Amino acid sequence: MDFRFSPEDEALRQEAIDFTKKEWDPKGYGDGEGIYYGLSWDHENEDLESLINEFEKKLVAKGWWTMHWPEEFGGKDAGIETQMAYREGMAYAGAPESLGGGLVAPVLMVAGQQWQKDYFLPKMASAEISYVSQGFSEPDSGSDLASLKTRAVKQGDNYVINGQKIWSTYRADWMHILTRTDPDAPKHRGITYLLMPLKDEKGDYLPGITVNAIPDALGRHRWDEIFLEDVKVPANNIIGEENRGWYAAMTTLSFERSNIQGPAMLLRILDQFIDYCRKIGRLGEQPLDNPVVRNQLANLRLEIETMRTLSFRVGWMQSKGDIPVKEASMTKFWGDQITQKVYLYLSQVLREYGNLLPTNKLKVPLPVNGFLNSNAFLSRTISVAGGTTEVQKNIIAQRGLGLPR
Ligand SMILES: Cc1cc2nc3c(=O)[nH]c(=O)nc-3n(C[C@H](O)[C@H](O)[C@H](O)COP(=O)(O)OP(=O)(O)OC[C@H]3O[C@@H](n4cnc5c(N)ncnc54)[C@H](O)[C@@H]3O)c2cc1C
Repeated sequence: MDFRFSPEDEALRQEAIDFTKKEWDPKGYGDGEGIYYGLSWDHENEDLESLINEFEKKLVAKGWWTMHWPEEFGGKDAGIETQMAYREGMAYAGAPESLGGGLVAPVLMVAGQQWQKDYFLPKMASAEISYVSQGFSEPDSGSDLASLKTRAVKQGDNYVINGQKIWSTYRADWMHILTRTDPDAPKHRGITYLLMPLKDEKGDYLPGITVNAIPDALGRHRWDEIFLEDVKVPANNIIGEENRGWYAAMTTLSFERSNIQGPAMLLRILDQFIDYCRKIGRLGEQPLDNPVVRNQLANLRLEIETMRTLSFRVGWMQSKGDIPVKEASMTKFWGDQITQKVYLYLSQVLREYGNLLPTNKLKVPLPVNGFLNSNAFLSRTISVAGGTTEVQKNIIAQRGLGLPR
């Protein structure tokens, strides 16, 4: 394995950093240096959402937004290493999501009907649609997602849907939803995947849909729950075949999943923390003069580097056509632990200054604009979202170490 990017990819990484510094301005929502740390954001903040969308359109114009898409859908077929170099640069510079289409575009490319490709992909490629709500998790189906119960029953030309989904934001115009169509089949085989409109032309929710906000630890509107009561969805909105939705939904596993953004963002945080300490001088005690702190910062730096190396391994396997399983779990497990550790440690070292939040207005500069503390809170969620620590450990134990179930 070669740990360096090719000269072309390295140049792209640097270009992504320079581009972001010049073109991305999160205004008052960043940390004062153009960085926007996305662990907590507020879906009622339309101002920030439109700033992000403006930036996405710049990435479209630059030809980067869909570089990872196949050429037949207007992309550039960029290899995994190129995507990683680009994403690492963007994340280090503090950009929001830098590649378009999310989880849905790849599924549509592989399993979507022609009308779905024709309607959705161009809108995603131009960042007109940049988010489609995810109707996967339910209150009783998270780790064991295939046990989901939201029911879809075919009646004439429609599926009629009843149930509840949670943990995405259901503010988009569309949701991609996994539903139970055959309750008697083995659990993975009775699931149907649908594209479901959430709103009418006026922007109101369709009949039978109720959405409630779930606030994060800082009180911001970060997630939702959605209740579906006799909601009609045209049967032609099916993705793939009836009762085979699980397999269509899982096709995204072959797309880039190194999470290279994670260590890049932490490295930048560490750099900013050190700059902040240097700038602010003494806070009773200068943290950087303390040998214990210096030692711990060096340890964190090494742990972030380990996280980066694990990401490289996942990307490297994918570039060879292998599907990382235990390796992806190791990356997620380690990344979650280190992310929580970095934010918690850095905010603790600054003592009372470390408790400041982005919303605090003081005359002194806030450390990383208060994002250390807010991310220390919010990073508690990452070892649950996307698969819990215990589930990752199970995969590592069984698929990696060959331990019995
Ligand atoms: C902040 C946040 C954001 C999220 N974002 C999304 C999202 O964008 N999209 C989405 O679809 N879902 C999302 N989720 C849902 C998330 O994927 C689930 O919460 C997660 O998979 C855990 O499922 P659960 O909540 O049902 O808990 P459970 O699966 O009931 O787990 C409860 C506890 O049991 C443990 N456990 C479960 N199974 C095993 C096992 N086999 N062996 C050992 N221990 C086990 C778990 O580790 C956990 O500690 C989000 C959740 C959170 C909290």
